[in-house]
Amino acid sequence: MNKRVAIVGWRGMVGSVLVDRMREEQLFSHIDPVFCSTSQAGAPAPDLGIDLPPLADAYDVSTLCDTDIVVSCQGGDYSTRMHEEVRKAGYRGAWIDAASALRMRNDSVIVLDPVNQPVMDRARAAGVVDYIGGNCTVSLLLMAIGGLFRQQWVEWVSTMTYQAASGAGARQMRELIAQMDHLSAACRATLKDPGASALDLERTLSAALRGEAMPTEALGHPLAASLLPWIDRGVEHGATREEWKGHVECNKILGNDPEIPVDGICVRVGSMRCHAQAVTIKLRQDVPLDEIEHVLHESTPWTRIVPNTREATLEKLTPAAVSGTLDIPVGRIHKLRMGPEYLGLFTVGDQLLWGAAEPLLRTLQWLL
Ligand code: NAP
Repeated sequence: MNKRVAIVGWRGMVGSVLVDRMREEQLFSHIDPVFCSTSQAGAPAPDLGIDLPPLADAYDVSTLCDTDIVVSCQGGDYSTRMHEEVRKAGYRGAWIDAASALRMRNDSVIVLDPVNQPVMDRARAAGVVDYIGGNCTVSLLLMAIGGLFRQQWVEWVSTMTYQAASGAGARQMRELIAQMDHLSAACRATLKDPGASALDLERTLSAALRGEAMPTEALGHPLAASLLPWIDRGVEHGATREEWKGHVECNKILGNDPEIPVDGICVRVGSMRCHAQAVTIKLRQDVPLDEIEHVLHESTPWTRIVPNTREATLEKLTPAAVSGTLDIPVGRIHKLRMGPEYLGLFTVGDQLLWGAAEPLLRTLQWLL
């Protein structure tokens, strides 16, 4: 008999990527989906070419309790409230979630099966039923370099991120394009003037960038033609919560004891849906580069080594090349001047696929 699966948050950004991937994987032939909404109960379910009842109320405890698995991409407030309500009501089904709300609880596991299948297996055997997707930057980092941790070669990691607008939300993505549009309109006349210099253009652009008419309602500041070196709220030691997640989530995903330091600076840039990271790794010993590349290449079927050449890097190691794919390219791999134990590399990944929806999809497949 098919399992009943409640799907909450399916029309959001992560949820719609998840539903697309579920269709591609033909998962809807193996489950009885119950599409839920926090705002549109009773409206028609999405058109998937199958017979579906109208949308259920995502706040109805008995609806959720009547399923075998809940998949939520709705957001942290929803998860905090409804997870507690259904568990209090005795629900023992699996709860799969994209939000961070339940991630660091002792009784949940962060899912990233190409990297931590043994941790997931142990958790399931121990009765864990809350399966939470990791922070997008963390999941993408571990899809890239998880193999080095598995070899126990890593003493510490410092990652400097270049994070896409999609990680901030749908409104922020739209606003980034609105900002580009505003800037391009402001510069159009100067750009067409053959006598105008590059500095004339820059002055026109900077005036528009700082002007009152620049749309910044969602992002708070100009992101187009700029960048924002602060993501989420501040926490202790001058770090941001996004940077804190790098350490705590990496270590939880890998089941590290003792913990391995992971730290850096997280920066929002004007790419649309790919996060990139420049990573410095202090190795425990001097491992030859060909061995490192071999381990990275073997670590997951999606991790791809990009040769450290100008042509390959600019063709394959950019958000433009990776967006919308499951590939996790790792390139610029070389030893740094600090010494043979210092490894530098660069990686890019689609933050809505491996960064969000894909681990949830695969957890659902695994549980089914
Ligand atoms: P989102 O796009 O804002 O969608 C969340 C919900 O907003 C939808 O399910 C929908 O719920 C409601 N909504 C209201 N107006 C809408 C509209 N015009 N179009 C679509 N939905 C609308 O949220 P998200 O970015 O997917 O994030 C969901 C969760 O995943 C969050 O907890 C987030 O932190 C986490 N996450 C996000 C990312 C990311 O890259 N964005 C990555 C990893 C994890 P109803 O249908 O019930 O009204």
